[in-house]
Amino acid sequence: MAIVYQNDTAGKICANPDCGWKPLTEFHRRRLLGISVGDGYKARCKDCLNAQDRAKWASDPETHRQKATRSCCKKTRSYSRTKTCPSKSTS
Ligand SMILES: [Zn+2]
Repeated sequence: MAIVYQNDTAGKICANPDCGWKPLTEFHRRRLLGISVGDGYKARCKDCLNAQDRAKWASDPETHRQKATRSCCKKTRSYSRTKTCPSKSTS
């Protein structure tokens, strides 16, 4: 969706049909390797993406919890050193 100006404010129409126009500050930036993709912003506003994520979590909390655990071990090595990571059982 392209950038739409309303009252001299740059914004976008959210991909969620129930949502409508919102200023660009309500959208996360969309980048690939530091370069803007498309118009540079996500198709859905922050509120809609948060709601989408929450719905995904609610539908399958166990899978998402495992994913979150795995990524924390990969990303921050210090995490496993300072705190006990739930995925690594203490032997
Ligand atoms: Zn929205």
